[in-house]
Amino acid sequence: MIIMIRKGAEPEKVEALKQWLSRYDVTIDSAYIWGSEVLRMEGDLSKVDTSLIKRFDCVAMVTSTGEPYKFASRRNFPENTVIRVGNRVIGDNNFTVIAGPCSVESPEQIREVAQAVKTSGASILRGGAFKPRTSPYAFQGLKSRGIEMLLEAKKATGMPIVSEIVDISALPFFENVDIIQVGARNMQNFELLKELGQIRKPILLKRGPANTIQEFLLSAEYILAGGNKDVILCERGVRTFETLTRNTLDISAIPMLKKLTHLPVFADPSHACGIADIVPDIAFACAAAGADGVMIEVHNDPVNAFSDGAQSITPASFAAMMPKLSAICGILGKTLG
Ligand code: PEP
Ligand code: MN
Repeated sequence: MIIMIRKGAEPEKVEALKQWLSRYDVTIDSAYIWGSEVLRMEGDLSKVDTSLIKRFDCVAMVTSTGEPYKFASRRNFPENTVIRVGNRVIGDNNFTVIAGPCSVESPEQIREVAQAVKTSGASILRGGAFKPRTSPYAFQGLKSRGIEMLLEAKKATGMPIVSEIVDISALPFFENVDIIQVGARNMQNFELLKELGQIRKPILLKRGPANTIQEFLLSAEYILAGGNKDVILCERGVRTFETLTRNTLDISAIPMLKKLTHLPVFADPSHACGIADIVPDIAFACAAAGADGVMIEVHNDPVNAFSDGAQSITPASFAAMMPKLSAICGILGKTLG
């Protein structure tokens, strides 16, 4: 962090600033550039609030090159985080496809979709049981019964499973769930994130529709700081002025996150666009942009789906998409699984 002191600033005011800065665990050195004093701060800048520094009237400008997150930072931890789920490896040179319905609806539905996506090459099964819905009148999920159905499909197919948690009190139901999803609406549910930092199970954290990349990384930091190092980030579209698509996929977030963090970066084309027929093309773009995986909603009877039928692709379209996705991964030297 660089603090430029205003030319002609009273020495006692500069001294007061230095005194105030000494509360932080940082080193400060001073130099003169074109007659102005410049303070350079190094060390753990995560607690330093630049907006407060600007309140000192001896300060002309503050520029921060530091990151407010420590554990999520690639600068601090250059090696890619690799996460093992069952016999699957997430991150590095693997491209992981998570597929399944938005909601678990019945034992037959989840088993049928699971078998179909597994046959086409998906490696992890998704299915929502606790559903955070925008409308209180919309289907809220089968809750613990849904988790049981998902576990049966896991047993039948051998696929690891991912499901969303909306409240920490439901944690006991997730004992045999391989990855816990934190949905977009809960990205800044800090108490939930703190609790998930205490467990030892991978967390798939989705980006909030109105959150910046930095806020996203700070949410991941809550989990990492608690000691749970297995966090997968998932870009799922942000809210823009566009109305024809449900959200707008921030494709640039994928390479940007890869640059800033060592955590695996996934994308969710289904929630990003909300329209089934354009989902495969968006998935190709996500792979090409460097994502470590995608999450795709697949339903065997989309028009009768309990939730998100409009964006759910059929097992047949999923099967048609996979070889092309595999080809793109091949160009990038990644293995699809
Ligand atoms: C979901 O994955 O079904 C879901 C609710 O996603 P999001 O939190 O991204 O809206
Ligand atoms: Mn959904």
